[in-house]
Amino acid sequence: MALIVQKYGGTSVGSVERIQAVAEKIKAFADGGDQLVVSVSAMSGETNRMTALAKEIQTVPSLRELDMLLTTGEQVTISLLSMALQQIGCDAISYLGSQVQIVTDSEHGKARIKSIDDSRIHASLDEGKVVIVAGFQGVDEFGHITTLGRGGSDTTAVALAAALKADECQIYTDVDGVYTTDPRIEPNARKMKAVSYEEMLEMASLGSKVLQIRSVEFASKYKVPLRVLSSLIDNPEGTLITSEENIVEQAVISGIAHNQDEAKLSLIGVPDKPGIAFKILKNISEANIEVDMIVQSVSAREGLTNFAFTVHRNDFNQAQSILQTVCDDLGAIGVQSDDKVVKVSLVGIGMRSHAGIATQMFEVLHNEGINIQMIATSEIKISVVIDEKYLELAVRSLHSAFELDKE
Ligand code: ADP
Ligand code: ASP
Ligand code: MG
Repeated sequence: MALIVQKYGGTSVGSVERIQAVAEKIKAFADGGDQLVVSVSAMSGETNRMTALAKEIQTVPSLRELDMLLTTGEQVTISLLSMALQQIGCDAISYLGSQVQIVTDSEHGKARIKSIDDSRIHASLDEGKVVIVAGFQGVDEFGHITTLGRGGSDTTAVALAAALKADECQIYTDVDGVYTTDPRIEPNARKMKAVSYEEMLEMASLGSKVLQIRSVEFASKYKVPLRVLSSLIDNPEGTLITSEENIVEQAVISGIAHNQDEAKLSLIGVPDKPGIAFKILKNISEANIEVDMIVQSVSAREGLTNFAFTVHRNDFNQAQSILQTVCDDLGAIGVQSDDKVVKVSLVGIGMRSHAGIATQMFEVLHNEGINIQMIATSEIKISVVIDEKYLELAVRSLHSAFELDKE
């Protein structure tokens, strides 16, 4: 008998029919003798709908109240799924995050899980029930309801799997695995049989939304066998996320990620002297804005430098006004801002031992006439920031140049 944790995303529980189909799938596992803990997201579109409602009332909604509101989406789906299971003769019980003590820190909107009390879940499993746990939510030590950030149900599932020492964590979604790039952008993308934790972590952090980054961090830390599968079509293989040593054939480049949430800000003509980067970014980080890529370049004018960085588009307006103040304080020439940019990244463990990947990437972009605005590299990735209108062209031409469509 195996203990399996499953997660069904928004589209997989997006209607009564879909919820009933998910219930049938779960029942088949339960009938086969497995113990099941199931985490679900809100119905697709619900979290966005409620966020928009909140913004109609409060321009910048209170983060605590927003968590209180958004967590109701998952309360709807856990109860409906439990009813659907009971209706077909499969005993089930649903729990909110607070009821199974998914304890987090108090960072509303992006809380981190600190602990999970597995006793109640085990008790219900021992009674022969399928246990359904609301994804995306937790409770802090003072009893306030928190959320784990967008896409956070993936993290709920992996954290449950780690806490329960489950045999496998299965993430059911609207694609049948992790592809070499987002199949919505490149129809020739190829499904991968296995991906290492490290590469998946890089793909997720560079924008591949198929898994929330923290879920991969958890899986890697606690060595949870993680599988991405389709809830819509039957293919039990999906993609396995596992340790590097379990992967037989390692390609140089395993995937291309893209991030459309970036915005670029530049401070033009700042005096080139010690402490400038610190002074610019201090105010930004004090406003709790995360900075992604940073580039400092020498300007044509003597003694002056240009300083550019990217932030999440949600933080664009705020970052822009902070930077304007910094510009005035430092006597810089001006601020340039652009929220029509995207980041495209090549990811692959094989890059460690292969030179020339960056050159090849830049050549492909050059041949397509795509201007590179910023570059960042690490051991297993190369990222470029480009104009958003070239997103599809860049992804597709890189995908084909690096032969990712071939086995
Ligand atoms: P869910 O609601 O089930 O959590 P998401 O929309 O969060 O589903 O994630 C699934 C989506 O991730 C897919 O529909 C796909 O467009 C996107 N995606 C981005 N990059 C990849 C990739 N490399 N492989 C597969 N899917 C990807
Ligand atoms: N419902 C939440 C969201 O839309 C959590 C999730 O789907 O994983 O972000
Ligand atoms: Mg998701």
